[in-house]
Amino acid sequence: MLQETVTVNGIPIPVTAVDTAVIGSGCAGWNAADWLYDLGRRDCILVTEGVSMGTSRNTGSDKQTYYKLTLSGGAGDSVMEMANDLFSGGGVNGDTALAEAAGSVRSFIKLANLGVPFPTDVFGSFVGYRTDHDPRQRATSAGPLTSRYMTEALEDSVRRKGIPIWDNTMVFRLLVSEGQVEGALCLSTSPAALSSPSHGLGILRAKHIILATGGPAGCYLHSVYPESQTGMSGMALEAGAAGCNLNQWQYGLASVKFRWNVSGTYQQVLPRYIAVTPEGREREFLPEYFASPEEALLMEFRKGYEWPFDTEKLKGSSRIDCIVQHETAKGNRVFMDFRRNPSGLEDGISALDQEVSSYLQNSGALQDTPFKRLLHMNPQAVELYKSHSIDLEKEPLEIRVCAQHHNGGLAVDSNWQTTIKGLYAAGEAAGTFGSRRPGGSALNSTQVGSLRAAEHIACTTCPETDIPEAFLSAAAAEAAAFLQNIEAALSKKEGGNPPLQQRHQAAEAMSLFAGMLRCPKKMKKLDEMLQKQLHSFFVSACVHNPQEIPFLLKNRDLFITMRAVLSAMMQAAETLQTQGSGLVTAENGESIHPLLPEFSYLPPLPQRENRLLLTKLRNGSFSSQFSPVRPIPEPESWFETVWAQYRERRKFLGQSGATKEK
Ligand SMILES: Cc1cc2nc3c(=O)[nH]c(=O)nc-3n(C[C@H](O)[C@H](O)[C@H](O)COP(=O)(O)OP(=O)(O)OC[C@H]3O[C@@H](n4cnc5c(N)ncnc54)[C@H](O)[C@@H]3O)c2cc1C
Repeated sequence: MLQETVTVNGIPIPVTAVDTAVIGSGCAGWNAADWLYDLGRRDCILVTEGVSMGTSRNTGSDKQTYYKLTLSGGAGDSVMEMANDLFSGGGVNGDTALAEAAGSVRSFIKLANLGVPFPTDVFGSFVGYRTDHDPRQRATSAGPLTSRYMTEALEDSVRRKGIPIWDNTMVFRLLVSEGQVEGALCLSTSPAALSSPSHGLGILRAKHIILATGGPAGCYLHSVYPESQTGMSGMALEAGAAGCNLNQWQYGLASVKFRWNVSGTYQQVLPRYIAVTPEGREREFLPEYFASPEEALLMEFRKGYEWPFDTEKLKGSSRIDCIVQHETAKGNRVFMDFRRNPSGLEDGISALDQEVSSYLQNSGALQDTPFKRLLHMNPQAVELYKSHSIDLEKEPLEIRVCAQHHNGGLAVDSNWQTTIKGLYAAGEAAGTFGSRRPGGSALNSTQVGSLRAAEHIACTTCPETDIPEAFLSAAAAEAAAFLQNIEAALSKKEGGNPPLQQRHQAAEAMSLFAGMLRCPKKMKKLDEMLQKQLHSFFVSACVHNPQEIPFLLKNRDLFITMRAVLSAMMQAAETLQTQGSGLVTAENGESIHPLLPEFSYLPPLPQRENRLLLTKLRNGSFSSQFSPVRPIPEPESWFETVWAQYRERRKFLGQSGATKEK
């Protein structure tokens, strides 16, 4: 690590140079730093907004899933089969699918060896179960907090190695020259730093950067991402990196007061769905939208294991998402009520579809209220809400359709390098999934993507730590512009929207018009509004004290990301690409249900899309276009040849200065 100071407008700004910087401390970030060290790259740092922030550290679900190659039983599996299953979600590149399949065992076993408690049977097999879009039983889980255990185990490993960690540091601008990443601007967010003349500004010099900043969760107001996760993909898009499948998200039902997916047993015990009008009138609404209350209960039951909204299930369980969205759009609040049985259960389970009745029977879940059934089948699910001051026995649970995961992200090659040389994206910041992904594959991707990026850096570049003059003067100019912008925003003592309110408005509009439901006209208007705001962002911005600076910078990044996401969504809507996560509302479409006229939609494509949607900044605006997916490669399989190639590839590992870029 090299350090010096550059003076900008009379203010000293620290400059730090390292060989490689990892940005983010989720499952992907920790793993990237850990692998870099093991592969011999010792001059690295991990920079994070907050060690305890982000999705991995703060989220979970009923049984948080990790997807990997089958490692138990006799049913068989293969790397190619798993790659095909990832690929067949539609809009997925074959080479990243193959790498995610091939790297899954190595990554999973590393975690198990680091102490993540993935269960084994008495003979040591990692027994699996089936998850959504999974034809086998590849999934496993360490419980509701799998991703938290992963970050804790990886963080311990990184700390044992003594890799420097810059906590409370937000990277907000990438410095790129001639298509090569050169460094970044960052901000120390401690109150003292923000109040100092430099406002916490620092210059980071690194020719290799792994962006592991997670999904751009701040794009949506209605979200089941943890509050501490907002993302920072905009800086890469602004620097010229291409986005991939930015229109592809996962949405589903989640509780609002405490953010948690209401999947699995929460649905399978059949709570009553109620809507409450602004005047306080309450009604049970699901039976209104189905031919019979029993059909409503079958769909509700299926929602348990078909949690994400899916346009292919519009006539099935995903209708529940549409109905809830419809009720909330009318201004009602929607609740799952575990205190009383829904309509259709007046005579017990006898009238229910056999799929439901035999499940409840086999589970011994014949108690007389949904609450008692939940307590019987999954007492931890009850306890979890209790620990967040929600007593399901006494009060209904407010829910909404929420954003949960970005399947798209920055476009990467099979080494997780973005379209900018030296800039890698791993984890949810990378866009390796298309319209569908098997449940649990996001966590696998955090591990494989970060490993591939670290390996590519270690095998193809020299360790390099320097602060060249040209870099210093370009970075100083960027720093001067930053200081000028911030002083301008701080000088206006009154007026203007506070940053959090500004974000709230845009994110609410995204949730309403560019979420599970997508209205092209409204998306266009929103894009125009964002363009206007970005055009005069710092001129019209108003921060009342320096502590608000990080929010302001985050807003700018989110608005850029939203514009890129809207560009992809509008392009997809135009070409009738309504697969997977988003339903395009149109004037002359087929209606899901006579009671939902405004849910007229463009029907999903008859077969799964095998194109990607790439988005790029051109002349200040984003444009998106389809491109064919890269097919699954047929790699060399003759052992001796592979061995020779492997030795050649790793010849220079850890030998500083010995290799040239390939
Ligand atoms: C409710 C819920 C349930 C889920 N369940 C599953 C599941 O069962 N299986 C599965 O596979 N996936 C699941 N996912 C998805 C999965 O958890 C995430 O995709 C994954 O944890 C993302 O990891 P990551 O390392 O990419 O990002 P994150 O864990 O989000 O980490 C991002 C990090 O970057 C930091 N950061 C961001 N911006 C900056 C910046 N500008 N400067 C410095 N640092 C920055 C953040 O503070 C954070 O430390 C679920 C997600 C949710 C919300």
